[in-house]
Amino acid sequence: MPLLRNTLYLPVDNKKCNSINPKYKIMEKPYVVGIDIGGTNSVFGVVDARGTILYSSSIKTGKYPDINEYVTALGDGVKTIIDQAGGPEKIKGVGIGAPNGNFFNGCIEFAPNLPWRGVIPLAQLISDYLGGIPVALTNDANAAAIGEMTYGAARGMKDFIVITLGTGVGSGIVIGGNLVYGHDGFAGELGHVIVRRNNGRPCGCGRQGCLETYASATGVARTAREFLEIRKDESLLRDLDPDEITSKDVYDAAMKNDKMALEIFEFTGNILGEAFADFVAFSSPEAIILFGGLAKSGDLIMNPIKRAMEKNMLKIYQGKTKLLFSQLKESDAAVLGASALGWEVKDTSAAAAALIASKEA
Ligand SMILES: [Zn+2]
Repeated sequence: MPLLRNTLYLPVDNKKCNSINPKYKIMEKPYVVGIDIGGTNSVFGVVDARGTILYSSSIKTGKYPDINEYVTALGDGVKTIIDQAGGPEKIKGVGIGAPNGNFFNGCIEFAPNLPWRGVIPLAQLISDYLGGIPVALTNDANAAAIGEMTYGAARGMKDFIVITLGTGVGSGIVIGGNLVYGHDGFAGELGHVIVRRNNGRPCGCGRQGCLETYASATGVARTAREFLEIRKDESLLRDLDPDEITSKDVYDAAMKNDKMALEIFEFTGNILGEAFADFVAFSSPEAIILFGGLAKSGDLIMNPIKRAMEKNMLKIYQGKTKLLFSQLKESDAAVLGASALGWEVKDTSAAAAALIASKEA
């Protein structure tokens, strides 16, 4: 399914303006809504075609263990900002980014960090609540990739991978201008590629040695605890309670040139770079874009990634893949990413219909 092909721009050809080009209808609906659902907060905003958040608000996700109460609270919040933006007739579509969000069926499926169990048909529930405005849903990393392609560092790119480095590690893979969803909607779980086969760290997914257990914020904190236990050398990190150490503490110590903290970044970047070399062999992306908290560590994380990636890369790819940081403002990125899906929401329903048809056939 094509994503974001020329849809955000006015036709340059005047003749087209007089024809009934369906793309032109976007003019009548100049905004989309982005909803980012996290374990703590659900943040939402009305966004224009340039990626400016015009109106935004949020609710506490955990306050609504009952999904119907959640839909009411979220729906009312979204209705308020839609009214501020001029009403539902101005809204092209709504995009939702959520953990374990499945693009094909609009459901959140067995998300461990959200209050609701099982399979939640959230896109449908929100669409119904908003009086039928089309709603599309995908996981948060895919939303980040679409956001980067629409408003950020991947504008104009057709082949790239976004890696989200947060509490977990996620990814959105774009090949030939299309986000890769796979046959079931769950493609691109690069955070759960196994990077250590022997004695790998146990992962939340139930397996061992996943990239996420080393390269997430919690993975970095875990590395710090391991280093402190195994090694004897001095470090600023020794002043802290080991159980309370965060990746931010490691960053702060590294900025003060603490040797151990610098080596923790080296260790983390090395594992990421090795993994990226493999990712490049899979889809030969023009760029790998780092997104999320750990990406803010700048050269501390980027330099070791670059070195390890190039060192482990097949010769035909060497020196070709750019490593970039996200260009979306961090506070806005999640909502922007989700909102980008709102521009293409019709493709979503078409994809869902096709999937249902293929399953019924
Ligand atoms: Zn895992």
